[in-house]
Amino acid sequence: SKAALFDAENKVKITFNDVAGLDEAKEEVEEIVQFLKNPSKYTNLGGKIPKGVLLVGPPGTGKTLLAKAVAGEAGVPFFSLSGSDFVEMFVGVGAARVRDLFKQAKEKGRAIIFIDEIDAIGRSRGKGQMPGSNDERENTLNSLLVEMDGFATDSGVIILAATNRPDVLDNALLRPGRFDRQISVDKPDIIGREQIFKVHLMPIKLAEGVKPKELAAQTPGFAGAEIANVCNEAALIAARKEKNAVEMEDFQAAIDRVIGGLEKKNKIISPDE
Ligand code: ATP
Repeated sequence: SKAALFDAENKVKITFNDVAGLDEAKEEVEEIVQFLKNPSKYTNLGGKIPKGVLLVGPPGTGKTLLAKAVAGEAGVPFFSLSGSDFVEMFVGVGAARVRDLFKQAKEKGRAIIFIDEIDAIGRSRGKGQMPGSNDERENTLNSLLVEMDGFATDSGVIILAATNRPDVLDNALLRPGRFDRQISVDKPDIIGREQIFKVHLMPIKLAEGVKPKELAAQTPGFAGAEIANVCNEAALIAARKEKNAVEMEDFQAAIDRVIGGLEKKNKIISPDE
């Protein structure tokens, strides 16, 4: 069978309960859930439902999770693709993939289309691209613009896109009727981190004395993805030591390991900057 052109999930189980912290962002996307549940309620009075919403924030802060939760809460299918998949793609493939994605989403009637790392396709022309490498990227961007313009605002398809570089996006993407709304998805503060720890500690067998509040205090600068990672690592570290519950010291070891990983990653990235 033919390779999947993008991911599609018909029954999304993720809801707002899975998304910790991010209260303001959740409040803003709740409006999108309402649009998807009952589009005509909003268009009856002549209003236009937004087509595109940008989720802006650093990596690992829960943008994908939030987009999925919108689909889960509204009970609509979730289609996703990543902008980075289009880099070095053969001519014509990216544009065809975008057309196919929109066609399938529209066939469902109501849907969320999620485009991760939209800056990889939506970078403004000539900014930070290697010469000659951006032909298909531009084709892909054009087909995305054509598709976005080509469906009615009451169609029940809403496109969410994630980026941590809204400043490099081509202005064409940000025009009214395209991605004309932005929601910020920031790194959590200490209270947000505590809430995220609580979500990810849920499936873990905890020894007495493991306190989400203390873990939050020990992880300044961590995004949700790193917190999820800490919880998982801690469980693996404790298991390796034949423990039957995960202790605070295992979390501390896991935090050190995740910090070590982040430092290594920064070292690899820094020579280019
Ligand atoms: P990227 O931009 O790197 O794709 P992202 O912002 O889309 O990152 P996600 O992929 O949604 O981040 O997050 C990765 C994982 O981290 C999630 O699947 C979840 O387990 C955890 N996570 C991130 N943020 C949160 C949050 N606010 N609440 C609960 N879990 C979170």
